[in-house]
Amino acid sequence: MADERATTIDVQVGRGCISSGICVEIAPDSFELVGLRASPRRPLADTPAARAALVEAVEACPVEAIVMGPVAPGTP
Ligand code: SF4
Repeated sequence: MADERATTIDVQVGRGCISSGICVEIAPDSFELVGLRASPRRPLADTPAARAALVEAVEACPVEAIVMGPVAPGTP
C-alpha cells in the first residue's frame, strides 16, 4: 500500500471561484485571495495539519471550484 504522505499533491482553483474566502479561512497555509479568485500558495504547505485543512477546504468550497489531485510522476 502506498504511503499517501509521500504523494505530491497539486491544487488548482477554477474560474468558478466566487471569492467567498472560505478556503482561505479554513486553510490559510494553502490558499490566498489574489484579485477576484483564491489561489493555491506555492509551494503548498506539506504538513499533516495543512493537508487536513486543505481537504476540509476542498469539501467546503460552495461552488466546488477547487480541484486536488496527485502530481503525475515526472512532473517538475
Ligand atoms: S472556497 Fe471556493 S469559492 Fe470560496 S474563495 Fe475558495 S475557491 Fe473560491
